[in-house]
Formats: sequence, C-alpha cells, structure tokens
Amino acid sequence: MDSQRKTRKLNGTVIVTYRCNARCSMCNRYKAPSRPEEEISIETIRKLPQMYFTNITGGEPFIREDLPEIVRELYRKSDRIVISTNGFFTDRIVALAKEFPQIGIRISIEGLEQTNNEIRGLENGYERGYQTLRKLREMGMKDVGFGMTVQDKNAPDLVPLYDISDEMGMEFATASLHNSFYFVEAKNIIHDRPMVAGHFEALINKLLKSKSPKKWFRAYFNHGLINYIYGQPRLLPCDMSFDTFFIDPYGDVMPCNGTKDKEVMGNLNRQSWEELWNSPEADQVRAKVRKCDRQCWMIGSVSPAMHKYIWKPGWWVFSHKVKSLFSKKPYSMYENKICRAYRDGLVTKEQLDRCSTCDLSAVVSDGLSEASREQLKTRTGEEIVEADIVRQMSR
Ligand code: SF4
Repeated sequence: MDSQRKTRKLNGTVIVTYRCNARCSMCNRYKAPSRPEEEISIETIRKLPQMYFTNITGGEPFIREDLPEIVRELYRKSDRIVISTNGFFTDRIVALAKEFPQIGIRISIEGLEQTNNEIRGLENGYERGYQTLRKLREMGMKDVGFGMTVQDKNAPDLVPLYDISDEMGMEFATASLHNSFYFVEAKNIIHDRPMVAGHFEALINKLLKSKSPKKWFRAYFNHGLINYIYGQPRLLPCDMSFDTFFIDPYGDVMPCNGTKDKEVMGNLNRQSWEELWNSPEADQVRAKVRKCDRQCWMIGSVSPAMHKYIWKPGWWVFSHKVKSLFSKKPYSMYENKICRAYRDGLVTKEQLDRCSTCDLSAVVSDGLSEASREQLKTRTGEEIVEADIVRQMSR
C-alpha cells in the first residue's frame, strides 16, 4: 500500500443530488433524478478526506435545501470550493455567497440569450444566470464565472460570451460534449469539427494575448478541447482515482464522471474513507483507469493533470507566448496534425466519428439506485422534480 495515499490531500467532486430543473439538450440527467431521502448525508460528508480542491455539483446542487450545511462541513476540509450551478435559485446562491464569500461559483451559460435558453430549456435561464453573476460580483465575490459546454449550436457564441465575462472581470470555463452514465447520454457528438475548432482557435488567440498567466493555461486547455473533439488521445495522462475522486448522491466513490457505466471504488455510507480508498475494489478501478480509452477532456480530470505534468502545458504556453511577440495570431488549429489531415482529405468524417464516444446503439446507464429508478415507473423525472420544487417554493 502506498503510504503517501494516506496523507496526500485529494481533489474531490461531490455530486450532492441527481435532481435537476434544467432541460439541457446534451444531458438527460433531469430525466433520472435521485430520491432526496437517499442523497448523501452530512454524516457521510464528514467522512471525506482533506482536499486541496472540492467541486460541488449535481444535478442542480441548490435544489438541496441543506446545501449551506453541506458547504459548512466541506469548508472545514477543503482549501478551495467551487460550486457548479445553473443559476436558477438566485436567492439561495446569494445567501450562500454572503456566508462564504471566498468560495467559487460557476454558472452554466450555454451562449447568448436565445441559444442558451434553447440549449438549457430553462425559461429566462440566461437572464437569471447573468443577473445572479452580476449580483455576486457587486457583492465583491471574486471567484465567479461562466461555464459553457461548446457544441455545434453555440460555438459561434463562444468568443462573444468570453468577451462579456472578461468585461465583467469573471472566470470563463469551457467544456465540450461528453457521453457517460453521469450525463445519461451516449449520442453526443460534434458534427462540424472545423467550424467548432475555428471558434476555439479564436478564443485561444484572445487568451494568449491577455496579460494573465491563468488565461494562457486556459488557452492550453482549449487547445486540448480541439484535440478531443477530433477524437485524439488526451494530451496529458488521466490519473483519476489516484489523487482525485467523485462521490455520487448514494455515497458511491468513483474515479470520475466520464465512464460509460458507473465504476465504484467503495461506498462511504458503509465504509470508512481509509478502508474504501485502500481497498482491492479501489485498486481494480485504478487498473481500469490505466487502460481507459475514453480520452475525456473535462476540467475535473485535466486540471490535476496540468498541475502534475506542468512542463508540458508550460512549454506550450512559453512557445506560444514567444510566437505572440511576432504574430497577431500565435495559435492555429492546424498545429494539430489531425486538423490538417481532415482538411487535406486524409481522414473522413466517418473515421473521426468512430473515434468519439458517441454510440447510437448503446444501452445508456444512469447510475441510479433501485429505489430512485422505481419512482420513475409511475412518474417522469421532470414531473418528480417539478413537484418537488413547487413544494419547496410554497413553504
Ligand atoms: S479518460 Fe479518465 S476521466 Fe475519462 S472516463 Fe477514462 S478515467 Fe474517466
């Protein structure tokens, strides 16, 4: 057993609920909610280890009325906390921000107003998200920003949305389409790769021209997204489950949220952290991660890798900053061999499609417990969550 495993601070993501009130076109989680009675308890959260970074996510985490209690508990064991939200519950977000002005908030906004509302299926979603962010900024909160999942439909909004976040002095986190049990989805795919990559290229050049080293490394992350949407091997190794973990609403500890089916290292409701983390089951999952071919490029698995293998993004940033001294456009998507090969007709769209995780005939997993699945026999996930929110709001 690696004695270091016992003492090292970890990077953890806590999925506090699978309930969600949005209707995103690239995620079916809203159809497969968890039952509130089964969702991770404070007692289980208390058993988590010390973390240098904690992401709180869902579903929509602010659906949980006891989220402040959860944050209070996690605050004791985390150097930094970031909550990912759709921004709908403005009052709850603002109240939490008052208590914890140091935490980070990322609100998912999928483009300018019309595109966002179409993709996320939340009435007034853009306006609510934008106003929540403005309010948080006015309160003096520093670590706030947008999170955008780039796809064919919203790629043209990528740079305009970045410009808005930049003017507001906010963070701008990007992602692209993934398939997994977590998203309850296997059909996500980018269709017009050169078009989407072209918008990433424009963003990368903007980020490289900024004065912020953080943004230069974001440029590298976005360069990796171009590589990902062309279905190529990750630019950096994936070490999920070694110093990084996810925990789901049922207390199951998993390596990540990118696998096709849920992979379980152990259950924190029933086990202690030490027992779970050092178990043979956890090692079996680690062995699978070493052979994993899904090539995800999500910030949760890339950020720890960028810190660990810093020389690689560091060299990329250095060489492109040097180029920026001589050129207005220091980055070109055609630096990627695969982009040139596709442009020059050496690879077909069908071949690239086969490199993606999109599988039209896959049986999609949802990672739900038996009891959560049982409730879907009489009502849809949307009906269950809607009734839940109406009940919460009428109190
Ligand atoms: S590449 Fe990494 S993050 Fe993606 S599914 Fe495999 S182990 Fe998980």
